[in-house]
Amino acid sequence: MNYTELAPSYIRAIAPYQPGKPIPELAREFGLDPATIVKLASNENPLGASPRAIAAMHEAIASIALYPDGNGFDLKSALSQRYAVELTNVVLGNGSNDILELIAHAFLAPGDKAVFSDHAFAVYPLATQAVGATGISTKAKNYGHDLQAMLAAAIEHRSKVVFIANPNNPTGTYIGEVEMLAFLRALPKDILVVLDEAYNEYLPEEYRYDSVGYLKDFPNLIISRTFSKAYGLAGLRVGYAIAHEQVADMLNRVRQPFNVNSVAQAAAVAALQDKEFVRQTFLLNQSGMAQVTNGLRKLGLLHIPSLGNFVSFKVAGAGDIFRRLLQLGVIVRPVANYAMPDFLRVSIGTEQENARFLSALEQAIGESK
Ligand SMILES: *Cc1c(COP(=O)(O)O)cnc(C)c1O
Repeated sequence: MNYTELAPSYIRAIAPYQPGKPIPELAREFGLDPATIVKLASNENPLGASPRAIAAMHEAIASIALYPDGNGFDLKSALSQRYAVELTNVVLGNGSNDILELIAHAFLAPGDKAVFSDHAFAVYPLATQAVGATGISTKAKNYGHDLQAMLAAAIEHRSKVVFIANPNNPTGTYIGEVEMLAFLRALPKDILVVLDEAYNEYLPEEYRYDSVGYLKDFPNLIISRTFSKAYGLAGLRVGYAIAHEQVADMLNRVRQPFNVNSVAQAAAVAALQDKEFVRQTFLLNQSGMAQVTNGLRKLGLLHIPSLGNFVSFKVAGAGDIFRRLLQLGVIVRPVANYAMPDFLRVSIGTEQENARFLSALEQAIGESK
């Protein structure tokens, strides 16, 4: 018996998500001291998490025997205040990855179509395929989303959902307000638009716009955000969606009743209040991005200008360079599975980590020649 054949063909066709290599795994493979390994592979926060979030977690552990609040009242209240929306507009997820899957479960069935872009976040095709729906990937424009092409594809294929990552991972490309609004105005209101803003907190002031405020005019919009990136809580798994209450209602129906654990809920409430931590994170990323991109330029490497906390750069023999970096104790991310085989993606770390990455990269390039 081949048990894989019991799964529907669309499940068997799924290419598994390839996460960044964990530090303990690399330490085992190469016999390295974990303390010397630098991981710049998953866009995590090099400052760790807010001390206030950590204190809240310690406190929450006292009640760990109890089920979490399945309605996530405290966290939803904090989010609804922050964004001036109703509780009924907020949906909590086990990471925003969960939100993306809830959207697929709630709105896509076999035969339905979802549109996303080439080089966009890998979870969109995964979530689409897992429910037997069909993904349509449009060609990118300068590695970024081509909203004209996405609009045309959404209409032509009568799609139900369009996924947009803004900024996009792994390219770091960004769609500004004028272009985004033109797209939303042109798109029929019976097509849902998922605006995945996992890196929103990293945007400089001049790039920001009030996407949550758009909900008034565009009830087909779903904003997705996360505590994994700038808030530094990737290991806890908390994300959320802000959407029209009818959309939120459907997402809640397919949600596991206790999808966000109690420690995570408590930490997220505290993290949301710690604006100073998010500001420090933003500032560190600004200077780190300048450091890394200058370093790449000095090495003669082209990079895609990024508004996230990571940057993708082009390097000859990317796969070989990736492995050499591993041997030097530096973990970056290959993006061949994003149809970018000549690129590697590096997350922005502390000044020291960035320097370590740049010197390891120089060495790896020298050795591979
Ligand atoms: C990291 C990331 C997410 C999801 O992260 P979670 O940890 O599941 O919240 C979502 N979208 C994009 C574009 C990302 O890069």
